[in-house]
Amino acid sequence: MTAEKINLLGLSRGKLKALFAELGEKPFRAEQVMKWIHQRGVLDFDAMTDISMALRERLKECSEISPPKIVEGFTSEDGSHKWIIMVASGSKVEMVFIPESDRGTLCVSSQAGCTLDCSFCATGKQGFNSNLSAAEIIGQLWWANHYLGGFKNNMERPVSNVVMMGMGEPLLNFENVMDAVDLMMDDCAFGLSKRKVTISTSGVVPAIDKMKDFTDASLAVSLHAPNDELRSQIVPINKKYPIAELMRAVKGYMESLPDRRVPVIEYTLIKGVNDHRQHARDLAALLESLPCKINLIPFNPFSLSDYERPSNTSVSNFRRILQEAGYTVTVRTTRADDIGAACGQLVGDVVDQTLRSVRHKKNKKSKIGKVFDRADNLAVTADRI
Ligand code: SAH
Ligand code: SF4
Repeated sequence: MTAEKINLLGLSRGKLKALFAELGEKPFRAEQVMKWIHQRGVLDFDAMTDISMALRERLKECSEISPPKIVEGFTSEDGSHKWIIMVASGSKVEMVFIPESDRGTLCVSSQAGCTLDCSFCATGKQGFNSNLSAAEIIGQLWWANHYLGGFKNNMERPVSNVVMMGMGEPLLNFENVMDAVDLMMDDCAFGLSKRKVTISTSGVVPAIDKMKDFTDASLAVSLHAPNDELRSQIVPINKKYPIAELMRAVKGYMESLPDRRVPVIEYTLIKGVNDHRQHARDLAALLESLPCKINLIPFNPFSLSDYERPSNTSVSNFRRILQEAGYTVTVRTTRADDIGAACGQLVGDVVDQTLRSVRHKKNKKSKIGKVFDRADNLAVTADRI
């Protein structure tokens, strides 16, 4: 039986150097290989002309450079792209690229499905299948660069920002996400600014507490409610880690950063649930001691949910109350609904290991006449983080 080859695509600089040390090679060789993979898009060792033939042969014996398979791609009239990736567990996950005049944002998935089951999220309703490997996570950025021409010498990098806001809870796949985020920001790999790589979490407090020892990426927190009673109903992890603990952990992480950066507080506005003016006033009071920006996301409907998107007027009212309290507030605009791609609606095709997807479908069957086509459930949201 041949030993499984190591996939170099997902190895952070530290891990690749350690591998080269094991092979008796100089650490700077690891950096050369990283540049070939992540800056020039090269997957074939024979194309690495500044690496000796002997080392290339040794690398071929024990390793490979293998991005995940792309099974489908869609392009929107507004220039957004959505790609569907097959991961090792057999599930399909999605990534989305949103070009804007001053940036190109890639929304990256970290898990096939999600264990957390927030009441307004299509991914959660899929149940859970697997964590993505570091190679499957960084492979999304690799593919986006490949497709968008980012590996060409004379091209400016098309992806300027990455948000870990696709499928899954990044902090429940901690090590792989940290390795991938490392590569996103490493000068020998994609070299993105730490201000432009954002990890979004629903509030896994112990993981936020240890983040500072592994990364200095930016942080977005999915809050969605100004009090524990309501938050526990719509973001179940709040029962385990209530708001006060979450705020303490977020403050701790922000204070560990050497520069002055603030977290983004994400708040999905759901009609009649958390969009009342009093919720806005309570949110303003709650966040008083936490310097932050607020990003309001009008709920994106999907077939397994009865929730509705609030009217534009109620979104504006909510925003105004926060602005009058002194906050910088953005409202996400939905993009690319023609290719069926909006925030929090990414569903892919998860081979569910839990019974949750069956339960949700059963509960819903009696209530809706029609189950939407999968593509209808997706919609890309332009992010202003
Ligand atoms: N698990 C992480 C990251 C993925 S979700 C998290 O929860 O932060 C990315 C963002 O999309 C989160 O802020 C999430 O709350 C939001 N979201 C989920 N479902 C949504 C929906 N149906 N409409 C609008 N936003 C949604
Ligand atoms: Fe998971 Fe985030 Fe969706 Fe909640 S909102 S179910 S944490 S992906």
